[in-house]
Amino acid sequence: MVVCYARRIWPKFFRDGADMLFRSHEDKASALKQSYDICISGTGPAGITLALKLAARKHRVLLLEAGDLHFDPRSNDVYKGTNSGQDYFACNVSRQRFFGGTSNHWGGMCHALEARDFAQRSYVPHSGWPIEKADLDPYRQETIGILDVKFLPAPDYLGVQHQDAHLQKLDFGYSDPPTRFKNKYLRAIEASENITALLNANVVDIVLTEDGGRIKALQVSDYEGNTLTARATCFSICHGGIENARTLLNANRQIATGIGNGADLVGRFFMEHPHFVVATAIINHENAKISPYTRAKPGSLPVAYYEPRRDFQDLRGILSFGARFIPTSGFYSNPDKYSFKRRLRRFVCESDALLSLSEAVDSDGHVNCPYDMVFRTAAEQKPNPASRVSLGEEVDQFGLRRVDVSWQLSEQDKNTLRQSALEVGRVMAQKDLGRVKLPEWLLDTSLSFPDTHHDEVAGFHHMGTTRMASSSKEGVVDENLRVFGVDNLYIGGSSVFPTSSHVNPTFTIVQLSLRLADHLDRRLHLG
Ligand SMILES: Cc1cc2nc3c(=O)[nH]c(=O)nc-3n(C[C@H](O)[C@H](O)[C@H](O)COP(=O)(O)OP(=O)(O)OC[C@H]3O[C@@H](n4cnc5c(N)ncnc54)[C@H](O)[C@@H]3O)c2cc1C
Repeated sequence: MVVCYARRIWPKFFRDGADMLFRSHEDKASALKQSYDICISGTGPAGITLALKLAARKHRVLLLEAGDLHFDPRSNDVYKGTNSGQDYFACNVSRQRFFGGTSNHWGGMCHALEARDFAQRSYVPHSGWPIEKADLDPYRQETIGILDVKFLPAPDYLGVQHQDAHLQKLDFGYSDPPTRFKNKYLRAIEASENITALLNANVVDIVLTEDGGRIKALQVSDYEGNTLTARATCFSICHGGIENARTLLNANRQIATGIGNGADLVGRFFMEHPHFVVATAIINHENAKISPYTRAKPGSLPVAYYEPRRDFQDLRGILSFGARFIPTSGFYSNPDKYSFKRRLRRFVCESDALLSLSEAVDSDGHVNCPYDMVFRTAAEQKPNPASRVSLGEEVDQFGLRRVDVSWQLSEQDKNTLRQSALEVGRVMAQKDLGRVKLPEWLLDTSLSFPDTHHDEVAGFHHMGTTRMASSSKEGVVDENLRVFGVDNLYIGGSSVFPTSSHVNPTFTIVQLSLRLADHLDRRLHLG
């Protein structure tokens, strides 16, 4: 509606489709003269899903995006920060700060959480969600459509499909090619009569009412220093798993500790999915049934994927994990040429000496790798209050303190990785499918892990920093994603996850946004 009106009175700003979004200060000031039902900040999967759903229900939506339609160093610079814990990715490379958010370079792996992921476990402190799987199930089909998820049955290389096994096969879904929210939804947002979208609109402050119980407005700034005020009945911050916490902590003009931080929980419980090669292995080709998939090019889909059964987790006191079978160059060596025994000797004696896979191929292109595959485990991380996002000393161009990420892993995290390798090794040895070898770092009891130069380390999944709970003593948002103590402020994204499971987060992020849209729809109708 606003876009159409604006197009009539300022035709020069609307030369092509992209110009229909509000960019200039004058356009934005005009758009912000009116009030909206809901103001959503952030255009990643969380924000766009929420905006489109509420607009379809005829609510007037104001959508704010800090960046433009493309990567811009001025915007990316705001994401710079420090890492003070476990070696981790630079803060401005593990996320994207422009329209579409980090979906501009996500990998597209999708899986819903299982019922057990929501449950409390005695050996996992701070576990348990205030909602259940059944609360998200109604949004499953719609999420599959939004993310274009295809499900491909994975091969069961280890043959674990019987009840007494400790592992179970996992079929992953793939958004393939990965859905880029900008490419898929920009037109719909431009065309929507109910969405007003502002680009280069950085939320730089949150203004509370005098009693602190409601949000009055968001302060918005562009890169030229022009500031504006955005008003709405309800607000939703969807800035991603690190930035949601930073935004609340930096909003400290009226409450010194930041918004929603009465129990000192904002930014705590930062979780990732620890992601390491936990074993190399050779295959006994005589016994192993190798499907055509696993003979495919390394990295091609689908790979064989295994997770622990719940009773195995209970037995060992470990977290959840997904162990991936990844063929390496050695897989293509002629299995008939050398006996398993001879290859096993090489594997035991030589695999540590081999520094990289490229060394495994000689100048004539002959494969000379002593192992056939690696197991890479992506694990759930133990919720840990000491693993946290906090404000650093440096400030960005808006005078806001930059982020410090202190990622902390625990012995339970390391043991989970270790148990994943031992269990796949046990199955392979028991069935004489092959043998695995664990790396030295995994066997020692210290809290050492490979660094970012030597392994993937994590999945680029930022979770837990505004955790959901049933009381303000244990979390930052309630089961409806509303910030405790602030009547009209909601958080979208994986920062609300109390525990992380081992599966990728975006499927759940979209389900939660759809559920939040239903909640806000009811609330806005009630007035
Ligand atoms: C390399 C890589 C691979 C990945 N692969 C997968 C995968 O295979 N499967 C999976 O599930 N997940 C994957 N992820 C994670 C996935 O990208 C995120 O889970 C998802 O993008 C999070 O969505 P979001 O909307 O919460 O946040 P984001 O997508 O990060 O969006 C946040 C938005 O907020 C905006 N913003 C930030 N600050 C402000 C501000 N102050 N004012 C206004 N706007 C602001 C940003 O510009 C951005 O548009 C991957 C991530 C990376 C980096």
